[in-house]
Amino acid sequence: MSKKRDYYEVLGISKDANESQIKKAFRQKAMQYHPDRNPDNPEASEKFKEATEAYDILSNPEKRSSYDRFGFAAVQSDFSSVNVGDFSTFSDLFSSLFRDDFSGDDIFSQFFGGRGRSRRPSGPQKGSDLLMDYRITFEEAIYGTKKIVEVPIKKECETCQGSGAQDGTSPKSCPNCQGSGVETVQRQMGFTRYISQQACSRCRGQGMIINKPCKTCNGSGRSRDNEKIKLEIPPGVDSGFRLRIRNKGEEGRLNGPRGDLYVRLIAETHEFYKRQGDNIIVEIEIPFAMSVLGGEMEIPTPYGTEKIKIPKKTKEGQILRLQRKGIQRKTQYGMNYGDFLILVHYHIPSKMTDEEKELLQQLKDISPLPPKQVKLFKKLIQDSKRNKVDA
Ligand SMILES: [Zn+2]
Ligand SMILES: [Zn+2]
Repeated sequence: MSKKRDYYEVLGISKDANESQIKKAFRQKAMQYHPDRNPDNPEASEKFKEATEAYDILSNPEKRSSYDRFGFAAVQSDFSSVNVGDFSTFSDLFSSLFRDDFSGDDIFSQFFGGRGRSRRPSGPQKGSDLLMDYRITFEEAIYGTKKIVEVPIKKECETCQGSGAQDGTSPKSCPNCQGSGVETVQRQMGFTRYISQQACSRCRGQGMIINKPCKTCNGSGRSRDNEKIKLEIPPGVDSGFRLRIRNKGEEGRLNGPRGDLYVRLIAETHEFYKRQGDNIIVEIEIPFAMSVLGGEMEIPTPYGTEKIKIPKKTKEGQILRLQRKGIQRKTQYGMNYGDFLILVHYHIPSKMTDEEKELLQQLKDISPLPPKQVKLFKKLIQDSKRNKVDA
């Protein structure tokens, strides 16, 4: 490479291209220049490296912004760590790009073990795990429930029956590894020769090469299908709780097992009950007279009505606690009970009966102002008089 070309120019995109435009542009270039399709063509190989490097930088928001601000110098060292010239890296990147290119995946995202991971050399491969967010009501989170959800799963592409090859063609055994998917690499370091086995760089460990990729699936051999999956939501779960459904992730390759599906629950809030971990907190209003004299009342909880005692002289903002009346949840050590917390406010009525008014008037007539306050006010008034005289 004589003079480095601008990464945006390499991919033929504008400076404000979004993630999917970058991906799409790289895919086009990669398809055009991939070594599999251009054997013994050094120019194509250079172009493929150039595009891969540009994609590596521009697809990473952090690296991209450094590049935008400071140019090559800011990202150069970064990229050299990816090993320019190591084709298995490129191929991995390349195949990962095909594996999960379904745009519009907002509720759905690749999870562990997805992109960029090095592959097992050959043979069956486990499918990727998937993560999905799922909304439940407050009550469903408290009491638990069973649900059927439709999950988009990548299946064998029907057009090519999963082979990834266009109609009338079929994948060919890879000449580099004779279909084993493994190649032996020798490295000489000083007097020592290292021999190691790695995924075949030509076929990415698949053992097969596709010359004409299927147009439906772009050679990935996958398409997307909805699958109905049963969720059992245990009682007492909170937002963020993650259900693991084994073998309901993406399908494996070459008869490998399916990945797992992780469902992250998002519980809706409730108009009265608020959760704080395993505690439930509520706010109530009580008549002023009850807060002074104390009393009893019934309060609804998600597990039934409870009788509570309002102690004498309950203050505005005081919290009353009902132990073990909060969230009920099964743990590996047995049942776990949170507390039910009641935040008390005084209620000042906007309308009153004549009788109430009459009684309050009597109370007012015999209630003095708080003595402490009277004393303080007296002092302040005297102070201000004295200051005026002094002035
Ligand atoms: Zn296909
Ligand atoms: Zn091979």
